Amino acid sequence: MSDLGETFFTSVGCMDGRVQAPIEAYGQARYHVLYPDIITEAGLVGILANNPNSELLDAIKKKILISVEKHHSKGIIVHGHQHCAGNPIEDNSHKKQTKKVAEIVRGFVPSGLEVKPVFVIKNGSSWVVEEL
Ligand SMILES: [Zn+2]
Repeated sequence: MSDLGETFFTSVGCMDGRVQAPIEAYGQARYHVLYPDIITEAGLVGILANNPNSELLDAIKKKILISVEKHHSKGIIVHGHQHCAGNPIEDNSHKKQTKKVAEIVRGFVPSGLEVKPVFVIKNGSSWVVEEL
């Protein structure tokens, strides 16, 4: 399982490599934990916001619940991002999807656990987390 001191949050979002480091840093600072459990698909919030088939939804749900129940995740970050190849829509719609998916996740995790929607944007040459 996990050793004492091995602490986790849960990252739910796109596979895009450009967003992983900013999400990791944001989650570590927000929840005072070390490791992200990364749950991902290409353009994940776009898939989950648009009536996904139950098989995919169940698979995502199962991974989130393992992070919550076995790793005692301290919080869940649901993220979308600019220039997404897997979910190529304009930013405002993408942000709405991200908030909608955060609501979906809130529906099946313990009520005391924070589910935080964020959007990762390109700022100059770096990628930064914007809270929604
Ligand atoms: Zn993406």
